[in-house]
Amino acid sequence: MDGPPHLRMFIDGEWCDAASGASFEVRSPATGAVLATLPSAGREDVHRAVDAAEAAQPRVARLSVKERAELATRITDAIRPNVEAWALDLTLEQGKPIRESRLEVSEVIPNILWNTEDLKRVETPVLEGYSKPEMLYLLRREPLGTVAVITPWNYPWLLPGEFVVQALVSGNAVVFKPASTTPISAVHFLEAMERAGVPRGAMNLLTGPGGTAGAALVEHPRVDGICFTGETATGEEISHRAGLKKISLELGGAGPLIVLDDADLGKAARDIAFGCYNNAGQVCCANGRILVQESVHDALAHRVVEETRRWRLDDPRREETDIGPMNNAPTLAKVERHVAEGVGRGARVLAGGARATGRPTALYYPPTVVDGVTTEMRLGHAETFGPVAPLLTFRTLDEAVEMANLPRYGLSMAVHTANLHRAFSLARELKTGQVVVNDPVLYWDYNHPWGGFRRSGIGRVAGKWTIESFTELKTVIVNVGESPKPPP
Ligand code: NAP
Repeated sequence: MDGPPHLRMFIDGEWCDAASGASFEVRSPATGAVLATLPSAGREDVHRAVDAAEAAQPRVARLSVKERAELATRITDAIRPNVEAWALDLTLEQGKPIRESRLEVSEVIPNILWNTEDLKRVETPVLEGYSKPEMLYLLRREPLGTVAVITPWNYPWLLPGEFVVQALVSGNAVVFKPASTTPISAVHFLEAMERAGVPRGAMNLLTGPGGTAGAALVEHPRVDGICFTGETATGEEISHRAGLKKISLELGGAGPLIVLDDADLGKAARDIAFGCYNNAGQVCCANGRILVQESVHDALAHRVVEETRRWRLDDPRREETDIGPMNNAPTLAKVERHVAEGVGRGARVLAGGARATGRPTALYYPPTVVDGVTTEMRLGHAETFGPVAPLLTFRTLDEAVEMANLPRYGLSMAVHTANLHRAFSLARELKTGQVVVNDPVLYWDYNHPWGGFRRSGIGRVAGKWTIESFTELKTVIVNVGESPKPPP
């Protein structure tokens, strides 16, 4: 019988193995089967990929915007016919329900096209000298050079789909390192790029461990920019190692959804379930914590439990499944630790709370509601990253603000209220990259700036901000006054 396929990395326009010959397995969280083996990149492979990128980058930078836009369109054309097949592979390697996977793979197409339109419309000003009127300052946006893109496993298509092609069409060459539990989607993305005719060396894929291949890439002296998405602790480590490279960090969150006493509780409960259980809660902008005003706590808790019962935990390949297995054992172990610690300190489980048995793997964890959570518990201040709705109560708006800002994460927060004045006054006080009024914390669109305050990151992406983050401003200073006298 045939074993699982062996997939390869992509360096300097060639599919290849690691120089050391080392490889690793990718196992499905849904079925437990080994889906593929892939090369485990080491330092030598990182050097080769950076060399290839460095050699290719000037050629990329010389492409006209028209040529770059046409390349981006060809990449999307190469993804489109494969959405169904690649969504199934995403479900198998990541564990998310097939409906979510289809949406994720297909969303990459308009996202790339949106950014390509942004690129076509980049405008830079021409300034007149302030103290020297004979001078003109012509501003240009120029690529960073060689950019490393490192991504996590929770959105193996959407996140590379926000960065990889965008870095390239901004004139950079790219070395892309995806997460080790979901590299198959990255291989497919590279297949699409190869079919689209990406210039040799301009796009390289390294598979293998973050602690070795990722760290070597971050430290490499000829990498000019790093675009990292992942845990806050990893982001901190990367920012130490990166030195003076241009760095954009999209990190963790523990975003609160705040329910005031005048909110529509039915809508709030639906949004709580969606933002807590979508992608099994493995979302940077999940509703990490539910802060509910004391007087409506009981009514809301009842509705949240009712909503939770509607979410079907099952094989993610089934169309009816709402929640699949978690992606990996360490993440599930963290969820269990957080729930157990909360219960040990007096919190109560209202729904779920223990791994499902009789499933193909031990990674199936049901949607879970925990009540009576306080900010001292991990469920009340840390990123749990699983399908859990921790309920905390507050009395005054000031108290809600203090609880929301306490963990010093600031990616996305939400407020549910019928009163716009109260919503705006909270929006001013919450220290976060975005505040969502009357929708889940889990909110994303193509065209508003995305990024965190404080421990949630550095920089902004999405829409025109993506192009800005992959380029630098250069000023060309021109003397348009009297010509200098020719030498005698
Ligand atoms: P992670 O452990 O930090 O890993 C992210 C990526 O970094 C993976 O490719 C990983 O490789 C690599 N890596 C690990 N250690 C590294 C090192 N020392 N140097 C360079 N690269 C290294 O995060 P994760 O568990 O995959 O993802 C979940 C986290 O991502 C959550 O905290 C979530 O909130 C955050 N996230 C944030 C956003 C956002 O937009 N702000 C979006 C999505 C996710 P390996 O897989 O080989 O370890």
